[in-house]
Amino acid sequence: MPLSEFDLINRYFAHHGVTRPDVVLGISDDGAVLRVPSGSDLVVAMDTMVSGVHFFPDADPAAVGYKVLAVNLSDMAAMGAEPAWATLALTLPQSDEAWLAAFSAGLFALAGRCGVQLVGGDTCRGPLTLTVQMHGFVPEGMALRRAGTRPGDVIYVTGTLGDAALALRMRSGNTEELAHTHAAFLAERLERPTPRIQTGIALRGIASAAIDISDGLTADLGHILKASGVGATLEVEHIPVSTAFTAMAKHRERWNLPLSGGDDYELCFTVPPEKQAEAEQLLARFPGGCTRIGVIESPHGLRCLLNGEVFEPTVGGYQHFSPTVSQSDQGMQCKAKSGEKAEHT
Ligand code: ADP
Ligand code: MG
Repeated sequence: MPLSEFDLINRYFAHHGVTRPDVVLGISDDGAVLRVPSGSDLVVAMDTMVSGVHFFPDADPAAVGYKVLAVNLSDMAAMGAEPAWATLALTLPQSDEAWLAAFSAGLFALAGRCGVQLVGGDTCRGPLTLTVQMHGFVPEGMALRRAGTRPGDVIYVTGTLGDAALALRMRSGNTEELAHTHAAFLAERLERPTPRIQTGIALRGIASAAIDISDGLTADLGHILKASGVGATLEVEHIPVSTAFTAMAKHRERWNLPLSGGDDYELCFTVPPEKQAEAEQLLARFPGGCTRIGVIESPHGLRCLLNGEVFEPTVGGYQHFSPTVSQSDQGMQCKAKSGEKAEHT
């Protein structure tokens, strides 16, 4: 017999994972009661994943559970916030217990590591769709923003770029490539991105602007430039890529995927020159470190140089509801081919 809605919540979501002292009332009532620490601003972010758009319908449910939380934690990192509470809206075609058990395990594994408590949600029947809302804290007035960078500030990224986009592209390529040892690393980068929470917290009071890279470096850095009313030059050869990426990327992908491929969930941030040394020293301690890739300038627009020569990246970029993309193109297959991820509009 299929599980009832309440059995499902109790079996897979209520009383799981960590218990935080700032949760007055968690899953059980009409609403959660939560206590924001005094002196803190509350940071709230939400991200949805739709089957067939953000993940393959046959994707490992544990990885889906991990990722729907990870992408929200990445937004917390980009704001310099310490994550605290999550809510989960679950739309399921049926109550498939094996799927739910794995999904819940994947989600709670990451939540536990980050000290995040699931405090509520909603469950209904429909096409498979997962939404997480994350809540986190930042000392009053200290949140990192997209606006605030100035000419002369240095541009950095964490980790490596292009891995997730290459993994997505390889899924629609030949199977020989997928058997390669590097393919497993790249797939892991796509399915289980690492939210740079400690880096975001360390950047409070240091970074002049920050964003997480979900839609590709040029698109997301573009948001910083627009919000701050400035331009930038990137030195493309300095963009960090993994060993696996270098080994597996085809010639034309070598520069374009790190520039425009999405789904890496690394941070892109800017630092005033006088804080550069402090930032580099501080971030060297964290996984992913940071790499200097360019500089903020007054003239608007983004310029790319490859070994000193002007480089024109293949632009494009996937957008939900884009008038230039037909409805039938708006699926995983389209993104798998273009190597570009959905941009949330
Ligand atoms: P209501 O009908 O009053 O909106 P529900 O019956 O939907 O409440 O939910 C009962 C409790 O279970 C609430 O505390 C709600 O936050 C929680 N809940 C429902 N669905 C989920 C879920 N998918 N994950 C976590 N908590 C959930
Ligand atoms: Mg109610």
